[in-house]
Amino acid sequence: MDRSDSPSRELRLVGRDARPDRTIVRLRSGVTFGGETLAVCAGPCAVESAEQLEAAAHAVAAAGANVLRGGAFKPRTSPYTFQGLGERGLELLRASADRHGLAVVTEVLDPRDVPTVARYADMLQIGARNMQNFALLREAGASGVPVMLKRGLAATVDEWLLAAEYLLLAGNDQVVLCERGVRSFDPATRNLLDLSVVPLLAELTHLPVIVDPSHGTGVARLVEPMALAAVAAGADGLLVEVHPEPAQAASDGPQSILPAEFRTLMERLGAIAAAVGRRLPAASLAA
Ligand code: PEP
Ligand code: MN
Repeated sequence: MDRSDSPSRELRLVGRDARPDRTIVRLRSGVTFGGETLAVCAGPCAVESAEQLEAAAHAVAAAGANVLRGGAFKPRTSPYTFQGLGERGLELLRASADRHGLAVVTEVLDPRDVPTVARYADMLQIGARNMQNFALLREAGASGVPVMLKRGLAATVDEWLLAAEYLLLAGNDQVVLCERGVRSFDPATRNLLDLSVVPLLAELTHLPVIVDPSHGTGVARLVEPMALAAVAAGADGLLVEVHPEPAQAASDGPQSILPAEFRTLMERLGAIAAAVGRRLPAASLAA
């Protein structure tokens, strides 16, 4: 490829050279991505009921997370499976998050839903299946609400960064990249979690990067070790699926960890964070 055609040359706004400093993404609630304090987003794959969400929110807040996750609009492979509670799910997210002092990140699937989701959420999640939904990127960019942009199922780093470029070009520089694994030849794990992109993206862009070891592995037992490895590699935060009863989960049960397992993960994360000059959200509250 001729250098003048290199996608990297098109990274006019997201490229590392576009800014002298790294971007710190700030949610309305004061949570930051990209500073010394890690952002830890945790909660169920999908909002299923008030009871389920409240149990998850209580547990993740007590363990030291600072952002509640949970899908109200679910991008399901099969149209016959649970599609999410829609706006009712957004109401539940806001209420549980407010009760526990958490911010909210939740997925928006349809450009027409951006204003509704933005009314309830502190951060819009653009999922792997929509990474190159350019209409959605433009709408989310124009909303001015911080965006978490997941890596596409089989997206190259350049494609991912160019998708982020759409958001910045639409006027929104509050963008966090989320590595969640890519399709591979090997069914041993759900996806192949690419932790090498964490230090690589630090060279290529000024945007913060977080890691999702839940979708990245698809296996609950692998979530904690890969979460610790992600922070050791320099990730600015994590996205972790936590469910009070994984066996009953409407989606992603096999990769969802229990509240007690999340607590252990957070306890072990403290030492790793300190080793790489970062702090846990709860530690910065206490400081
Ligand atoms: C999710 O976060 O539940 C989700 C659907 O993730 P992804 O888009 O990474 O598959
Ligand atoms: Mn999920």
